[in-house]
Parts: sequence; structure tokens; C-alpha cells
Amino acid sequence: MSTTPAAFIGHGSPMNTLEHNRFTEAWSDFAASFEKPRAILAISAHWFINATAVTSMARPRVIHDFYGFPQELFAFDYPVAGDEALASHVGDIVDPVWVGLDDETWGIDHGTWSVLAHMYPAADVPVVQLSIDASKPLSYHLDLGARLAPLRDEGVLILGSGNVVHNLRALSWGTPDEGFDWAQRFDDDARALLQNDPSHLGDLAQSDDYRLAVPTPDHFLPLAYLAGLASVSASTPEVFAPGCTMGSLSMTSYRI
Ligand code: ZN
Repeated sequence: MSTTPAAFIGHGSPMNTLEHNRFTEAWSDFAASFEKPRAILAISAHWFINATAVTSMARPRVIHDFYGFPQELFAFDYPVAGDEALASHVGDIVDPVWVGLDDETWGIDHGTWSVLAHMYPAADVPVVQLSIDASKPLSYHLDLGARLAPLRDEGVLILGSGNVVHNLRALSWGTPDEGFDWAQRFDDDARALLQNDPSHLGDLAQSDDYRLAVPTPDHFLPLAYLAGLASVSASTPEVFAPGCTMGSLSMTSYRI
């Protein structure tokens, strides 16, 4: 079997689940560009807890973890299977990193299903989510990402879902297709590092724009998993669907 791609997707607003725009079209084009994976390991910004865990359940619950959006979005269902064997296998391959098996707390959240709704609308590829351990430094996430690499040879798509720049307080609703100068600059710096020196993704913390671009690490850290995978891969991450929206959100996605 050939190596399955890995990706980081800039998911943006939950409304992207229901909308069709240049970003969501790029997500479905990406999925159509390679053989359907056996399963997906998703790392979503929205499962940000003080532990490293994977969902281990036959039928992950669909979590509507937001408020203030239309009823249609709360009614959205993504009835996908889980994969308990894959969940335990993840724990084995990243050893000695400890991964808890979660058979009741989480499920799949909108960081995952807003994107998969476009990539695999039939919900026919089993999904396991990996939590982001909020207590750990960036180096831990880079290392854990690299350790997941063998899954790519087993037909598993590793999918980080967050946003390189994610500052909800600074959103500018009047500029749907533009980023502030600082947001675009940070997005460009992230791209240069990912493509040239992914194991040094942490250097971005020295950027003058870091505090505005990454006010909290949750949406940024899924990118560290792709950077970790890129650091042990012979290929350079490719950008797809680049650009910012509403001033302070980068939607830029990457694939390897
Ligand atoms: Zn989000």
C-alpha cells in the first residue's frame, strides 16, 4: 500500500460545515486526490484537555461544541463509526508516550466533522480522535506527531484541524477574504518554517506577531502534528487553500 497523505486543515467557522466556498471545495478536492483511507486519526483544536487520549468507541457521539449558531448546525449529524482496534494501536506505536483510551467522554467534535462533512460526506471512513494535551510543551506535540508516522503506511489518514492564526477577539466581519497584515505575515512565516525546517516550528513563538496570532495554543497545536510528521518525511508540506478570512483567521491548509 502506498503512503497515505497527512494534512493540517484550517477549519475556521463551524458554518463551513453547511457552506460551500473555496476552502470547503479545497477540502473535498484534497480527499478526492488519493485513495480512500482505511480510517482517520483526527487531532482537533476542540479536544484540548490535560491528558493525551484517543476515542475508543464503536459509535463516537457527534458533539456540537459551540453556541450562537443556527439550529441547522446543531441538527447536523455525522454518523460515523469509530475504530477501537486503531485506538489501542495508537497507544502501542507511540510507546513510551502514554495514551489513555476514552470510551465515554468525547466523540467527534466540530473541528473534525466540519471538515469531514466535505471530505467524506457519506461518513464511511471510521474516525478516531486524539486529544491535545494542554499541559505539554510544543516539543511534545512535534515528537508525538512524528511517532504517528507509521500509521500512514497502514492506510490511516492523519488529519490535524485547527487554524494557524486564530484570534476571535480581533475578527473583522467586514473583510471575509482578507487578513490583517500581522495575520498574513505570521501565516507566511509559518509556511516558511513548515516547508524548510518543520522541526523548528516552535521558533514562531519568537515572532512579534505570535501573541496576536496565537492568543491560546489550541488551534495552533494541530499544526505541530503535521510538522512532526513532515520532519520525518522525505517530502515537503504543500499548501492548499491558502489565505486569511475575517482579518484574524488563517484558513491555510497543508498536506504531505
Ligand atoms: Zn475551531
